[in-house]
Amino acid sequence: MIKLLFWLALIGGLIGYIAYRLRLRNHPKPTQARPQPHTFESVRCRQCGVYLPIEKSIQREGESFCSWEHAQQWHDKKAS
Ligand SMILES: [Zn+2]
Repeated sequence: MIKLLFWLALIGGLIGYIAYRLRLRNHPKPTQARPQPHTFESVRCRQCGVYLPIEKSIQREGESFCSWEHAQQWHDKKAS
């Protein structure tokens, strides 16, 4: 009985090892799956200089602003 369990464990281990090696062959470069660091484009407010994500910025006349107030202030300053 002990011998049978020994052989079953040995064969099971061998099958697991072969399956593991086959999986490695199918995916030879696991380093490619490394997730890229998350990056987002940030812009600088033309009025106060604060940096913020571009999707949260206000665009006006080709310039980026953190708020409509700063966009208006910059526009007023430019106009005067
Ligand atoms: Zn600002």
